[in-house]
Amino acid sequence: MRYSKIRSFVGTAILLGIFAAAFFGYPLSGCNYLPVSYIRLFCPVGFIENSLSSHSIAWKLLPGFLIVCTLVLLWGRAYCSWFCPATHAKSKSLGFIAAFLPNSLKRRVGPKWRAARQKIVSKTRLEAKDGIALVLGGAVGIAIFHYPFFCLWCPIGIISRSLVELATHYTLRSELVLLVVPLGLGLLFKSGWKCLCPVGLFRGVVALGNRSVVPSVAPDTCKACGKCEKVCPSEIAVTKTINTMECIKCFKCVDTCPYHAASVRLFRTRR
Ligand code: SF4
Ligand code: SF4
Repeated sequence: MRYSKIRSFVGTAILLGIFAAAFFGYPLSGCNYLPVSYIRLFCPVGFIENSLSSHSIAWKLLPGFLIVCTLVLLWGRAYCSWFCPATHAKSKSLGFIAAFLPNSLKRRVGPKWRAARQKIVSKTRLEAKDGIALVLGGAVGIAIFHYPFFCLWCPIGIISRSLVELATHYTLRSELVLLVVPLGLGLLFKSGWKCLCPVGLFRGVVALGNRSVVPSVAPDTCKACGKCEKVCPSEIAVTKTINTMECIKCFKCVDTCPYHAASVRLFRTRR
């Protein structure tokens, strides 16, 4: 089965899982808070944000934070494409809308939209490193003003809270409109909201040390057609190098390669 199909299946399970957990009263707040026995797996950015705003460390949450960091070292930024409820909600709603649009319109609008995005991004030249600078500035603000504002516009939190509200009160939260902040700002960045999402960026920085479960290209089979680079949501030149900070392990490159030159390697080899 192709990775995109498995990812779509996982995405449906995640969204339904959050809904069902809230419906049956299980204390799972999206992917932000998951109690496993005595350990509390907490959003790592939420942990840092809490520590900065309260000027203290919630020691009870520290083991969960360290476990999440270890998972990121092992799997890199896989969370962003496989488990993030915001990513799945976005792709499923876009897929739903696209199903009702005529193919002729999609063929006309798609390339125009991509060209317009390219134009904006070539003017702004904003990349992940600019997102990190913004997030660091935000972290200083949180420490000074004692206010954890990342959670206010974090798409993961917004989508999770709305699913919980839907399951418990059969309504959606008006804060859904705040999604325009990450979506709108994401248009200015090279690879969209992944460049400024604090959760993704934190994982990206930890993932710099990641060496396992990576896409890899066999140079003798590769025909240099460039299709893998074209579909990569992080615009990584897959045939040259893998930037573990930006690679979200979606494996679209592997699914797309018509010559089966790209595959998933358990451990990264030097090129
Ligand atoms: S390099 Fe491959 S696995 Fe990584 S983000 Fe790009 S398409 Fe996805
Ligand atoms: S899609 Fe396959 S053949 Fe084409 S450049 Fe990528 S790895 Fe090489």
